[in-house]
Amino acid sequence: MIKIKISKTLEAKIRKGYPWVFKYQLENVVTEGSSSLAVIYDHKNRFLAIGLWDPDSDLCFRVLNLFEPKEINLDFFLQRFQKALLLRKDLNEQGTTGYRVLNGENDGFPGLIMDRYDKTWVIKVYTKSWFDYLDLMLEVIKSEKNVDQVVLRLARNLEKSSTYYFDGQVLFGPDPITPVRFRENNLNFQVDVINGQKTGFFLDQRDNRQQIRKISKGLSVLNVFSYTGGFSIYAISGGCRKIVEIDSNGLALKSSLQNKKLNFEESSNLEYQQIEGDAFQKLQELKSTNSQFDLVILDPPAFARKKKHRPQALRAYSRLVELGVQLVAPGGRLFSASCSVHISADDFYKAVNYGVASVQKQLTEISRTGHAIDHPIKFNELGYLKSVIGWVGDKK
Ligand code: SAH
Repeated sequence: MIKIKISKTLEAKIRKGYPWVFKYQLENVVTEGSSSLAVIYDHKNRFLAIGLWDPDSDLCFRVLNLFEPKEINLDFFLQRFQKALLLRKDLNEQGTTGYRVLNGENDGFPGLIMDRYDKTWVIKVYTKSWFDYLDLMLEVIKSEKNVDQVVLRLARNLEKSSTYYFDGQVLFGPDPITPVRFRENNLNFQVDVINGQKTGFFLDQRDNRQQIRKISKGLSVLNVFSYTGGFSIYAISGGCRKIVEIDSNGLALKSSLQNKKLNFEESSNLEYQQIEGDAFQKLQELKSTNSQFDLVILDPPAFARKKKHRPQALRAYSRLVELGVQLVAPGGRLFSASCSVHISADDFYKAVNYGVASVQKQLTEISRTGHAIDHPIKFNELGYLKSVIGWVGDKK
């Protein structure tokens, strides 16, 4: 077993539930053999935590269990898995068969997420320490009844770290896999779990999409960064009269069209348009043609992938809102979201309001939202999703 020592300050933080140790925080490491597990001993040489050890990563230790030494075995994972399933048990009855089963650290599986798309289960790992436990994780999943396939996705930095595991690998079930379908709030979606972003779908926006569905009747809607059409499908289902999607990825737009077909018959009452290209540029073009929408949805990719990108990311959020808000028709609404972990909710809301104000508009907020039930957050550092919806008016 690897034994590590850290500062008293970090010890205190970990006692309160902080889940990580970074390399620069290590005071001493005693290595006996190689292992993907390590134990932290406190300054009095007592056991503090057992966790995943990844010496190749800056984030080298992730807490699995605090205060009490535990065997990290099938039982250990099964208990946590069942607890996580319990938290999500109502989703199925709500017509949702695609949801996050394990949200990493927040569900006791640090550096691992698991999404379920009906009978296809996808594990995504962010540290190579998990390679040693993937067989156990397969057992864990198979303890459930509805399992046709299990797919592995790897974080970008892990793509070359195993000679056996690779991104998009089918760990269990038929390979190549057939199109994967699931339901979300009784709507149908098809997802590419092998090549799609994250595990193929942005399950975290489910509640926000439902909110959009409720207000869409009769509206013209601009869905910017539409990806596979999540927000669009909900808006159409809510009875909108027009949808315009913008995304730079042609394949995503195709897949959005496919999702539309899965849910709705061709309808001459719906105006439907897809625009492929850079959102910032396309928004400007829409403005130059005086286009207006009753609802503008801005759900971009993370603009701040690293802490140091924060200032430019905040500027980008403001700029995006500035462009989007000018396309909102009188009496219309703006929805704006950020999934950047390095941007705090407060800073994001400020950036949104700054963007709105910079073009002499104002936003009367209807609601702010965060994480849905299947994306629980135990530590502030792990909260990433924030969004706001509001009425747009002219600045008085
Ligand atoms: N709103 C989506 C998720 C958005 S993911 C949903 O609910 O599922 C981010 C999307 O932004 C991706 O589809 C990506 O192709 C697209 N994208 C990234 N940069 C872009 C840019 N500069 N202009 C337009 N689209 C972009």
